[in-house]
Amino acid sequence: MDEVASPHTEVCNDINMLEFWGIRGTAPVSGKNKSLYGGRTICSCLRIAPDEIIILDAGTGIMELGNNLSSSVNGNPLKIHLLLTHFHLDHIIGLPFFSPLYLQATQITFHSPIGEQETENILQDLMKGRFFPLDFEETPSTKTFKQIPKDGFMIGDAGISWCDLQHPQGSVAYRIDQGEQSVVMATDTEHPETGVDENLARLSQDADILVYDAMYTPEDYPTFKGWGHSTWLAGTELAKAAGIKSLYLSHLNPAYKDGQITFILKRAQQNFRSSVIPVEEE
Ligand SMILES: [Zn+2]
Repeated sequence: MDEVASPHTEVCNDINMLEFWGIRGTAPVSGKNKSLYGGRTICSCLRIAPDEIIILDAGTGIMELGNNLSSSVNGNPLKIHLLLTHFHLDHIIGLPFFSPLYLQATQITFHSPIGEQETENILQDLMKGRFFPLDFEETPSTKTFKQIPKDGFMIGDAGISWCDLQHPQGSVAYRIDQGEQSVVMATDTEHPETGVDENLARLSQDADILVYDAMYTPEDYPTFKGWGHSTWLAGTELAKAAGIKSLYLSHLNPAYKDGQITFILKRAQQNFRSSVIPVEEE
């Protein structure tokens, strides 16, 4: 029998500006046993100015974020910097349903680790032919495509750095430093057989928040070795090695019910006390 899920008292978002709109991995889910931690796929954001926002990934979480943005800008210009980690469906499938895409006053810059033309082609394919009633290129927003430079880049006063992760077809982790705050997003990665991922540990060094791929329990992981995902245990070891302040467990397994995820959280907190599960925005 599942453990009774704990209320959100143990779950908090430390940085005011960081919002989580989807924290489920692989596929969206719903149902009363999966409602406590939410069922939307990966999407989070940092609002850097009233009319400017950094969004990380475009899973189904971006749909509700889009509704929120469209109503708050009320027809005024909106600048969006969409940082894509990779192109697996759970990270882009919300984009066709992202209402600011359909607003003329929206400027979206798509940042990704692959070439600019390839990024544009993939996003066009997502809405092409029999998949969707309207083509991506026909949507009224202004779109720009940028391949992320090796040595990082700036968005306003936020510094963005990144590293490659171990994931089928590739994925990247982003680090955002703004003012005194630092956040690392590493939602899709497989840990090495021994030790920690040194590149990711270097990128994450002393960050306030590490958002980490906690897709499998250590017991389930061996069955899915090679699928490109990790465990809460590897997350806590990395958090300790890199001197992280808070570990946010994300990319939650769509098969796990609330009680199982609460149990994962408790076990993670025993190994690294500042482990939390981010609260999905409403
Ligand atoms: Zn994913």
